[in-house]
Amino acid sequence: MKYLKLFILFLLTLPASAQTVIKQDAGIKQMVEEVSSKNIEATIRKLVSFKSRHTLSDTTSKTTGSGAARNWIKAEMEKYASASGGRMTVQFDTFTQPKGVRIDKPVKLKNVLAILKGTDPTDTRVYLVSGHYDSRINDVMDANGVEPGANDDASGTALSMELARVMAKKSFPATIIFMTVVGEEQGLYGSTNVAKRAKAEGWNVDAMLNNDIVGNTHGMETDLKDNRSVRVFSDGVPTDATDKQVAALKALGGENDSPSRELARYTKEIGERYVDQLDVKLIYRRDRYLRGGDHLPFLEQGFTAVRFTEMNEDFNRQHQNIRTENGVDYGDLPDFVDFNYVQKVSRLNLSVLANLASAPAEPQKVGIITSDLTNKTKLTWEAPATGKKPAGYYVLMRETTSPYWERKFYVTDTTTTLAYSKDNYFFAVQSVDADGHESLPVFPKPIR
Ligand SMILES: [Zn+2]
Repeated sequence: MKYLKLFILFLLTLPASAQTVIKQDAGIKQMVEEVSSKNIEATIRKLVSFKSRHTLSDTTSKTTGSGAARNWIKAEMEKYASASGGRMTVQFDTFTQPKGVRIDKPVKLKNVLAILKGTDPTDTRVYLVSGHYDSRINDVMDANGVEPGANDDASGTALSMELARVMAKKSFPATIIFMTVVGEEQGLYGSTNVAKRAKAEGWNVDAMLNNDIVGNTHGMETDLKDNRSVRVFSDGVPTDATDKQVAALKALGGENDSPSRELARYTKEIGERYVDQLDVKLIYRRDRYLRGGDHLPFLEQGFTAVRFTEMNEDFNRQHQNIRTENGVDYGDLPDFVDFNYVQKVSRLNLSVLANLASAPAEPQKVGIITSDLTNKTKLTWEAPATGKKPAGYYVLMRETTSPYWERKFYVTDTTTTLAYSKDNYFFAVQSVDADGHESLPVFPKPIR
């Protein structure tokens, strides 16, 4: 008892900023722990065994080429779906890519989608997680060389499949789609087809997580070894912003608060809540120099999307013919993948998807009242239009120079006035349920 009192005294004497309350959902924690590096390794090695998964490679063989690879992925996903009580269905998302950039003749292409339907019929939200199963070597048009693509991007493909396996057994109010897409290396063709389809069919896509190159922990050039950190790339000014929206950003700020950047901050908070020894590095740019990825077509269609990639890339292992040159080994082989690290990034993705799909939807019409000159801040919003009602809301606040949200105010009303000036801070509002699952934060629009 004496020690307990001393301990409480110790806690009370800590400065406020040193206290972090970690409240975990036992169900999410259990799923996070079930993600297995052994399964991930087996999947990556199996994908490499198809020799080439190039988008233009053979589709008739049962053992090699893109056709064999996609059939195997679909059959595996169907095995996982059998544990879902009929809620997970697996489909080819099939389309014909016409002749064009990096496509020498019209070709029928197939993404694999495993759709875990949400349990709440009034909740229309859809969450997507993706990796690309196609691979390439030096010559992007060489379809039938040995093209292992173990890290780029069997790692992201294995991640998406492992999450389908673990999450198929569980139920969530919102829908989760586990994607493995084709055509990335030729021009983001697979993800473009899904993004356009989502737009045309009116999918309520709340967030898309792209995982591409998530398995290497040794940056050869700089000899940096890092199995704790993962980068998350997000756009600042929304990729689909109109001139009017850009003008508003110029006037009032908010160029660091696109929906995708709120998602990036959310992945850091939730991922580090559930995964030990993880440091999510927010990279405030859409993607790396000279590179793109499957989140871009989703951003172009107006959806919220981010990209996960390892901290220190080894460019001798990407898009390379397998060879030794001047004593240097080239090639994207499975022995260079750190499977425990892919497991860690998978656990990060799972915690984010599970928390989002369990949470109420975002508040609607989030506004900041600008009709008066005042040193206070009045915010208003409406409850989400669909799905379960929130228990309350967090109003988030930070200094304009801070990369992360710094304070949370819990309110149960749909309006609040804070004694902090709207001119001096940034704010956002997120829904939260009784178990603490938070929606994505919404940056307010000015209301007069
Ligand atoms: Zn890639």
